[in-house]
Amino acid sequence: MSEQAVVGRVLSVASECVPLVKTGGLADVVGALPKALAPHGWDMRVLMPAYRGMVEKLGAAREVWTGGDVFGGPAIVLAGRVDEIEVLLLSAPHLYDRDGGPYSASGRDHPDNPERFAALCWVAAEIARDGLGDGWSPDVVHAHDWQGGLAPAYLRYRGMAAKSVITIHNIAFQGMAGPEKLGALRLPYSEFHADALEYYGQISTLKAGLVTADAITTVSPTYAEELMRPEFGMGLQGVIAARAALVRGILNGVDAGTWDPAADPEVVAYDARRLKKKAENRARLIAEFGLDDVPGPLAIVVSRLTDQKGIDLLPAVLEDFVAAGGGLAVLGSGDPRLEGAMQAAAAAFPGRVGVKIGYDEALSHRMFAGGDAVLVPSRFEPCGLTQMYGLRYGTLPVVAATGGLADTVITANPMALAAGTATGIAFHPTDALALGQALRRLCALYAQPDTWAAMQRAAMRQPVDWDASSAAYAALYAELLA
Ligand code: ADP
Repeated sequence: MSEQAVVGRVLSVASECVPLVKTGGLADVVGALPKALAPHGWDMRVLMPAYRGMVEKLGAAREVWTGGDVFGGPAIVLAGRVDEIEVLLLSAPHLYDRDGGPYSASGRDHPDNPERFAALCWVAAEIARDGLGDGWSPDVVHAHDWQGGLAPAYLRYRGMAAKSVITIHNIAFQGMAGPEKLGALRLPYSEFHADALEYYGQISTLKAGLVTADAITTVSPTYAEELMRPEFGMGLQGVIAARAALVRGILNGVDAGTWDPAADPEVVAYDARRLKKKAENRARLIAEFGLDDVPGPLAIVVSRLTDQKGIDLLPAVLEDFVAAGGGLAVLGSGDPRLEGAMQAAAAAFPGRVGVKIGYDEALSHRMFAGGDAVLVPSRFEPCGLTQMYGLRYGTLPVVAATGGLADTVITANPMALAAGTATGIAFHPTDALALGQALRRLCALYAQPDTWAAMQRAAMRQPVDWDASSAAYAALYAELLA
């Protein structure tokens, strides 16, 4: 971005970033923010670990930082551009050049995860203090989840001037480490107490960020409120409530270019005025999943298969749904028990329920284009992305009324239907009874083609891109610097 347009610089500190590495929605957000913030004058760079093979993806990289002892070995930071994102890769082979994923190998967490992500945060603080070799230095450090949690802590404990923000994408992961690691993590012993680093006798790097950051955000307004309640705060509700004045919920957006049924290379193009074309995608999807005719709504699920996502509720409601004409196509992987349950469902309802176990981005696009509805029965959902893809594709979301799902879906009650604003169905509580009722309602709405088409058009009109959210982040950074 041009120099005179810059109002401030932000160092985003994260463990994953699309398109380099992704295990969940966090990566989408970290990759989207720099592009979304640029028009507001914020120059954001993303600092992340150079996992194995990643430096090669960076293209022409320049060395912008060197450290002699970064948690047990030397490290450098390489700067480069990927997909319009200024990426800073922390190359520290002793921490990151290994088999497996970002957090685990063969199903087991890397035992030195506390040190691995502490190193990332430590280097973020070093950059905040000294800047990079190319003269760039941040005004704000924006840390994401427990992996970034120590960045605000190091800034605070080491007396550095940069402001800090921590964003909670999912409070279920809290970055625990034994108290014996205090020294190894370069944390002050004096801060190991209940009002700071200590969490039930251990260190929580997420809590460390929450108690030291200048602002706390999470990814939807409803989740921001839920986090202060015991049902959702996972033990940290008191910590967050104590800093309530600093907390705000800013909805994630989706990449409107990637998720656009009129321009998606995976699908037969359609938009709100050419909805008939969606039927071609539906027919293709039915064929791809080996289903028979589905006379009622064809629902899709694209998800990690975990209890958080309410996947375990599906088997109990399928018999009714299928009897009412519905069909289901599932794409996901995760908990072996739930993978098995989904495969059993496909075997129990051949021709009506199809399941593919795995992770397949391209197929997920075809599913959003071909489905009639997307099911997201989560027990908690900080923001959720798939319901927003559903809105973009006129694939009506059936969601649990929690977190970002509650903030993004306008449920088809009589008033919303009359006003033409309904975009899906939200149910509460997250149990099989309420989900079953929601699916019955879905079938009833599907049987009224005019109402259904009106909901599809309303869904596709609903803004779910980054416009509003990036303005909210820009305003927050500006407040911190004011
Ligand atoms: P979470 O981060 O909790 O998994 P989100 O809804 O925020 O949930 O983000 C999940 C992201 O991962 C979405 O972009 C979704 O489309 C994608 N996804 C999840 N499972 C799969 C899969 N099996 N294949 C392709 N994409 C998937």
